[in-house]
Amino acid sequence: MMREATDSTTTDPTSTDPAASGAASAVSAEQAEDAIRTLLRWAGDDPQREGLRDTPRRVAEAYRAWFSGYAQDPTAFLARTFEEVAGYDEIIVLRQIPFESHCEHHMAPIVGHVHIGYLPRNRVVGISKLARVVDAYAKRLQVQEKLTAQIAQCIHDTLRPLGVGVVVDATHACMTTRGVHKQGVSMVTSTVLGTFREDPRTRDEFMRLIRM
Ligand SMILES: [Zn+2]
Repeated sequence: MMREATDSTTTDPTSTDPAASGAASAVSAEQAEDAIRTLLRWAGDDPQREGLRDTPRRVAEAYRAWFSGYAQDPTAFLARTFEEVAGYDEIIVLRQIPFESHCEHHMAPIVGHVHIGYLPRNRVVGISKLARVVDAYAKRLQVQEKLTAQIAQCIHDTLRPLGVGVVVDATHACMTTRGVHKQGVSMVTSTVLGTFREDPRTRDEFMRLIRM
């Protein structure tokens, strides 16, 4: 049996973000490309030389892909659930979900993996949908702690499982290519909610499963 979540009390963890406000729509493609020409000059190059002539258009298009998450509602991906799980009541884990994001401090790439686990309360969600939730938040300007918390809170509020755990392991280009220039350093953040927070055994089981 499938059903659509209709609970209107579900909180939207994006509600304080500019995502829903349409902040980007006020900027024309021409204005965006002009801004990129300015940055090319700021870098010390000539935006009019042949090799750079189409670059502003390409960069603007790349921004559309890198920041496509602003146009998405992550909770919508979890609206369709499945209840026919033959009494399955153990943790479900999706490991090694690759993601690319950009840090909101330098607009530099953050690249890594997300691990998600949840203990279902009678209903589960298609596994590809969890990956879509990751992308909807990753394709925005982010800090890793916020990305981790948003994914966990979205699953917690929308799917309403008994518990949820999210671990993010990522490298930050703003640290590897500038600043302290430390290659090979990855940052790990985690958010645990519900039984994952309250019951050490459930949390340990999740941590063991994502290390398998
Ligand atoms: Zn940064």
